[in-house]
Amino acid sequence: MAFPATTRATDGTTSTQKPLFGLAIEDLREVMAQFNEKPYRAVQLDDALHRQRVESLDAVTSLSTELRAQMAAEGYVVGLPEIVQTARSVDGTERYLVRLSDGETVETVWMPGGDGGERGDGSAAAAEEEQEEATAEADSVPASEYKRATICVSSQVGCAVNCQFCLTAKLGIKRNLTAGEIAGQVAAVLNRHGVELRSGRGKSTPDRINLVFMGMGEPFLNYDNFMAAVRLLVKTGVPDARMTVSTSGIVPSIERFAQETVRPKLAVSLNASNNEVREAVMPITRKWNIEALLESLRPLTLRSKECVTFEYVLLGGVNDQLEHADEVIALMRQIPELRPKVNLIVWNPGPDIAYSQPKPEDVAAFQWRLREGGYRTYIRRPRGRDIYAACGQLKRTVDAEPQLVTIG
Ligand code: SF4
Repeated sequence: MAFPATTRATDGTTSTQKPLFGLAIEDLREVMAQFNEKPYRAVQLDDALHRQRVESLDAVTSLSTELRAQMAAEGYVVGLPEIVQTARSVDGTERYLVRLSDGETVETVWMPGGDGGERGDGSAAAAEEEQEEATAEADSVPASEYKRATICVSSQVGCAVNCQFCLTAKLGIKRNLTAGEIAGQVAAVLNRHGVELRSGRGKSTPDRINLVFMGMGEPFLNYDNFMAAVRLLVKTGVPDARMTVSTSGIVPSIERFAQETVRPKLAVSLNASNNEVREAVMPITRKWNIEALLESLRPLTLRSKECVTFEYVLLGGVNDQLEHADEVIALMRQIPELRPKVNLIVWNPGPDIAYSQPKPEDVAAFQWRLREGGYRTYIRRPRGRDIYAACGQLKRTVDAEPQLVTIG
């Protein structure tokens, strides 16, 4: 069990801290053994950290005051990542700048009412979304007033994949997040919103939270920490069937993912209908082309009603024409066993990115063509576009905040 040697505070001072959030039960047993405590104490600590989401050692009331004082003296802290800045969009989306123990930051996004990304995938989240949208429309109630939300989570500081349409790519890669830092973003956001994931006193229906690992970074290039975070989050109370991970197509990790028994749903960031266009848009295609990508998906055993989602960012004049839609249909026909579904994302403009938005009529025609071809195809609702929280826009843009409303 290795702890970071130093922790950097907002004022730049450093100290030695040992964060407990995110440690596996075996590691917590080791910690308790250092204080001559029995293994069941580790179970109590695990419950406090990962199910109750305590924010400080003082709140771990299942451990004695004396033990907590000894642990604090040794440098142990809960160590949840800290939300240091918040921007709220006109649509209710909130984007957080989250500070990690070494002073690095990532972004996490809260989308009340969800982002429409799960529509048509046969999951409980999709059914809720469709039903609530219909009810909201009938009652003129904004979807954001329902206690259902999606949290978009980061997995790395920056990203190495270099998708040409993505602002995060401009950062390059700085480091992987630990499992605790990935799951800790979720815990910090749930605490901020007072979300209860289990029914408790005075609350018969737990809040419903979906997680999408589509923030900064490529989760499948940080595979072990990402999957450890998934297991922690299941413990926190979010079922794996309410999680979706998006990959740019890291074939060796997809092959490992196919063997997992506890795993999120899969979304593949396709974004092009042939290798030539995909190489220009996503240089990772030179390493694993579309054929290799589709082949790696075949062993995936789907849950009942589960499907694999293909995300497709429409870039004006680049990949948004009907001949591209026909090529996408031909690709989908190669993998009927994956029950493919397509999510179209209208590209979100960002500074220094030389693409243009597709024309609305091209978007509509593209969707119509895929539906005619027999594939469920949805247009992802853009969320938080005014605060750079939408897909492909996550970047630490403190220097370029449009209409930023700092509320925390
Ligand atoms: S789209 Fe995702 S994988 Fe591609 S550069 Fe951006 S963060 Fe990385």
